[in-house]
Amino acid sequence: MDRYAAQRRALVERMQDRGIRDLDVLRVFEQVPRHLFVPDAVAHRAYEDAPIPIGFGQTASQPSLQALYMQILQIRKTDRVLEIGTGSGFQTAVLGQLAGHVYSVERIRELAARARDALDAMRVSNVAVQVGDGTIGWSRYAPYDAILVAAGGPEVPQPLLDQMAEGGRMLVPVGTREAQRLVLVRRHGAEYTHEEVLDCTFVPLLGRFGWPDEGPRPG
Ligand code: SAH
Repeated sequence: MDRYAAQRRALVERMQDRGIRDLDVLRVFEQVPRHLFVPDAVAHRAYEDAPIPIGFGQTASQPSLQALYMQILQIRKTDRVLEIGTGSGFQTAVLGQLAGHVYSVERIRELAARARDALDAMRVSNVAVQVGDGTIGWSRYAPYDAILVAAGGPEVPQPLLDQMAEGGRMLVPVGTREAQRLVLVRRHGAEYTHEEVLDCTFVPLLGRFGWPDEGPRPG
């Protein structure tokens, strides 16, 4: 127990009000200390159900939206999961509790380093974080049973489609830089189905199969 336990419990109740029913997902959100993943200056806001600034122009996603991702993807203990956009590393830690192995790619070196420190402090051992362009995926550990993209691009990156396992699921925001639709892709053999889930607003997915990555990155 830590001094944020009551706030964490309240957050989980709010998530239930917002339609999160998956008991495994709710249990993990009640366990993982989100305040350890955000900068100290905003730690007191860690259990608000809202996006939170983490520096370098980026935000940690809203917890109920992350929970919805996991409820839709139905992540199991045997799954190999790819996450694009490690950011704070909070979602990476949650995935670590639900999945078999998690591979996470972040383009901003400092964020990846901070996330690794927080994951190490929690002794999460089934998670690997790499600095790089996640729009090309992480072919070394493919194929993946589930892929979560935490930034919005103009289209579904082809390499991520290629790296889906048979029966694999992917959630990816697709649209303009300002607004996107969350798309659920499923793979059955050579066939892919696309289903639009909801409207959303993520930071831009920058990279070879995302928006052009112009000039020096923020920070
Ligand atoms: N799930 C994270 C979300 C962070 S915001 C959290 O809750 O903390 C999205 C992240 O995607 C940002 O950190 C941004 O730097 C990263 N990102 C954007 N384009 C990327 C790319 N092509 N490859 C890897 N990471 C990318």
